[in-house]
Amino acid sequence: MSENTDQQSGGLVLIIDDDPMILILAREALEKEGFVVEEASDGSRVLSMFSRLQPDIVLLDVMLPGIDGFTVCRQIREHPEGKNTPVLMMTGLDDIESIKRAYDSGATDFISKPFNWFVLGYRVRYMLRASRTLHALDSSRVSLSYAQRIARLGSWEWNVENDRMHWSDAVNEIFNVDPQDLDKSYQAFLNFVHPLDKELVSSAIEGALTNNKPYSIDHQILLPDGSERFVHSEAEVIADKNGKPVRMSGIMQDITERKEAEKRIKDLAYYDSLTGLPNRILFKENLEHALAHAERKNTKVATLFLDLDRFKWINDTMGHSVGDLLLQAFAGRLKNTVRKSDSITHDNLSQSSYSIARLGGDEFTIILDDINRAQDAAIVARRILEETSQLFVIDGHEVFVTASIGISIFPDDGNDIVTLIKYADTAMYHAKDLGKNHFQFYSSDMTDNAFKFLLLENQLHHAMERNEFEVHYQPQVDMLSGEVICVEALIRWQNPELGMISPATFIPLAEEIGLIVRIDEWVLTSVCRQIKAWEKDGLPPVRVAVNLSGQNFMQKNLSDRISTILTATGVSPDRLELELTEGVLMRDGKETITTLDELKGMGLSLAIDDFGTGYSSLSYLKRFRLDTLKIDRSFIKDIASDSDSEAIVAAIVSLADSMKLRIIAEGVETVEQLTFLCGLQCNRMQGFLFDRPMTSSNMSSLLREGKNYSGRLHMDA
Ligand code: C2E
Ligand code: MG
Ligand code: MG
Repeated sequence: MSENTDQQSGGLVLIIDDDPMILILAREALEKEGFVVEEASDGSRVLSMFSRLQPDIVLLDVMLPGIDGFTVCRQIREHPEGKNTPVLMMTGLDDIESIKRAYDSGATDFISKPFNWFVLGYRVRYMLRASRTLHALDSSRVSLSYAQRIARLGSWEWNVENDRMHWSDAVNEIFNVDPQDLDKSYQAFLNFVHPLDKELVSSAIEGALTNNKPYSIDHQILLPDGSERFVHSEAEVIADKNGKPVRMSGIMQDITERKEAEKRIKDLAYYDSLTGLPNRILFKENLEHALAHAERKNTKVATLFLDLDRFKWINDTMGHSVGDLLLQAFAGRLKNTVRKSDSITHDNLSQSSYSIARLGGDEFTIILDDINRAQDAAIVARRILEETSQLFVIDGHEVFVTASIGISIFPDDGNDIVTLIKYADTAMYHAKDLGKNHFQFYSSDMTDNAFKFLLLENQLHHAMERNEFEVHYQPQVDMLSGEVICVEALIRWQNPELGMISPATFIPLAEEIGLIVRIDEWVLTSVCRQIKAWEKDGLPPVRVAVNLSGQNFMQKNLSDRISTILTATGVSPDRLELELTEGVLMRDGKETITTLDELKGMGLSLAIDDFGTGYSSLSYLKRFRLDTLKIDRSFIKDIASDSDSEAIVAAIVSLADSMKLRIIAEGVETVEQLTFLCGLQCNRMQGFLFDRPMTSSNMSSLLREGKNYSGRLHMDA
């Protein structure tokens, strides 16, 4: 605009009119009000004058010789400087058509002839003021949006009632979208939030609406091209006079660069630059967290200290650069090993998490979080020693390294990180003393147990091929007749090094290391062969109960596998009863029901073993087609001394009766127990009172002689 506008005058007015009278009167009226006036009497020179003078306001007559006023107005609007200059068009009175055309051609306002010259000055002054305000607003809007763009800061507003949302160009830029492609709603907005942060953002927004309180959070967004960015979001709620939220207004700022810088700083402070592993500081923080977590969950944490054997020698003879490369390769192998031992073989470890750190030099640590037994740490330590002692090829050199590992266990060895670190370190030196490539627990008892456990595991892997398993049989008796109605097959493991190991010890281990399905299949096959052999020998037919671990039900083809065994051995399905645990039923799932139906359909009997120790309810049992309930030994044991147990047994018996299930009591050892059970009409029993589990040949003799147990009732009463 013209330079001399504000200080010296009220502004520069350009009047265009072909009527000299109007020009004179207007000039006089406006100059009196302090304006500087320039005039033109036709439209042809207007544009050049406009460029030269850059007036603050134009008064333009609609009727001009040559080019009419509307055309001139349009030309002014197209002029680079004329977009915002107020143009006041002078029309004839009541000339509605001209008024409409004036607005159409871009006029700011109109004034009708004849003029009130006194009012004209005011009119012009107020138009100018409005125009300047608009201009100031416009330029502050431009500079605000410019500033916002630089700051990557956008704003949004959400009408809660009709779910319309508006967001600024800067938000479009942050989201990297074309605003035309979007129907803007709350859901559309939320769609940009990273799936991991959706919960956070939606609960912040909903919380703000509920409590009428602003929120301020950092979260990630996921852009249409798949890239992820960090934003800072703040918003507040605008409520109506009743306090009901009607709108929400917020800002969003892209803080990706800041977050990245923070991460770089954190990386420098917390990570080892050679291997990228957490350093000593982060290791301690992680251990602190792990202890707090384990304390809450009542689990254990193992701290493993690992030190390479002979690393100094490698460094000295092959040079530091080979040493560095070896440490990197070692770190990589360590990560792989721990990750693998995590879940593949050991169910127990699948819950746990781990973190590896390098403390400096050739010292590493591994935290195993959330473990149940100290042995789990031994499994990991052993695997680390196995894997890391394999050959490394570094820069063309073949390098062998071994390591020594010390382990301390929370809470067994100590409750705080200082103690646990010190003890793991001590244990590590102890391992080195033992000749390197070893691991040691801080407590020698734990080391002993861990070695026993590992030996057991190792032996169990070979037990099948070395023919160390055997099936024993225990009779189940019907006290009404005294006859054997069924025999339970129970596996036995005789190991040359470890002696006889109870199934109560090795079955859980076999489940854990994934051997149980093969073992159960082996038992089933042996049992079927035995049934066939008894048949051949002309012994009276007897049903055999076989225990099946729940893990068999996780395999899809259980009924097929059993059917194959039956066919291969030529055994009729009605000779077999399968003993399942309540856990199998509790797992629910359609697949379990289907499998059980298939097994029933094949003609097998189904029993629930150790009944009463799980949490099956009556309604639960109804869903399955079962034949037998076996009351758990623990209730029978306490019958004579504990009235609760008596009540439970009585309840289970009547439950079984009402569901038309066979019932059998396990672990009957005394005549007292037997008498009590008979009193409840629970006549089927199994236990040491009748016979202990015995070898198959002893069972053959027993069946051949047709042993009768009626005498037991009066034995020592
Ligand atoms: P279970 O199926 O409840 O078997 C009964 C257990 O109680 C057997 O222990 C048996 O020897 C013992 N027992 C029988 N009568 C008495 C008694 O009067 N008093 C006492 N104190 N105990 C008695 P065992 O043979 O040590 O088996 C333990 C568990 O191992 C079995 O409990 C079963 O759950 C599991 N098991 C045994 N064989 C197999 C198998 O082939 N496969 C699977 N998956 N599990 C098996
Ligand atoms: Mg059983
Ligand atoms: Mg049992």
